[in-house]
Amino acid sequence: MSIVYLNGEYLPLEQARISPLDRGFLFGDGIYEYIPSYDGKLVGFRLHIERLQRGLAELKIELIRSVEQWREVFEEVISRNGGGHQSLYLHISRGADTKREHVYPKGIEPTVFILAAEIDAPQVADPALATTYKVSSKQDLRWGRCHIKSTALLGNVMHKQSSVEDGCDEALLYNELEEITEGASSNVVVVKDGKLATPVLDHQVLPGITRSILLDILAKYSQRGIEERIITLEEARIADEVWMTSSSKDIVPVTEIDGELVGDGKPGPVWQEIMQLFAKHRFDY
Ligand code: PMP
Repeated sequence: MSIVYLNGEYLPLEQARISPLDRGFLFGDGIYEYIPSYDGKLVGFRLHIERLQRGLAELKIELIRSVEQWREVFEEVISRNGGGHQSLYLHISRGADTKREHVYPKGIEPTVFILAAEIDAPQVADPALATTYKVSSKQDLRWGRCHIKSTALLGNVMHKQSSVEDGCDEALLYNELEEITEGASSNVVVVKDGKLATPVLDHQVLPGITRSILLDILAKYSQRGIEERIITLEEARIADEVWMTSSSKDIVPVTEIDGELVGDGKPGPVWQEIMQLFAKHRFDY
């Protein structure tokens, strides 16, 4: 049985209850993190908590806990769920109000929920075994604050659903200028003539932890480097390789965009090279 953390208690999922007046439920008024842990080792923990703290500050949700305090709780949830490979989903909402009103209420306690779920072993740098994505391109119709890891994910959910209905795995989103923003739940990297590029971070893009780990690994251990710049949808279509990055999937080679092969439609040599580095260093963060 899954043991969750809710507002200071560890309890079976079946017993976890929150109020229907919780602002997470009423307004999607909250933020979240998804952190993988392999054999009990959390990936990018400090980076995830620092992003969480930036989000809490931006939403003016008061919850002061250090990285080490969070780590204790996460490690307890992992251990109570038997260790192994688990994802940890942390959801913080502004809390339960006594009425439904848009303005932030004063004096309520945030709701803090952590759910563990078993996950597969991480991505390996082997084209024959790798998870790959087919994607369909969609105009990005989400809100203008995509840098906040908001629990209000309906825009992302609708884009992902629409891509799945196209027979794909993920959406490749572009703005009104036909510039790539990101995926419905991932960041994007393109490779052309051995050169890597990824969309620059702004309000259209979530600052992904996998993206930031990848950039750091490239800076430290590879000669290739990566450019952060505007990338058009057309550039993605004619790229040699396109990758999507996320904490749940690491670095995923894209084999098709809108039914057209990317390169030769197989995980490429640059992906294999960089995925090897990523696999070696993911636990450094
Ligand atoms: N963009 C969006 C919209 C996402 O939902 C995610 C995954 N949560 C990402 C990018 C990748 O972020 P991370 O590497 O931190 O999982």
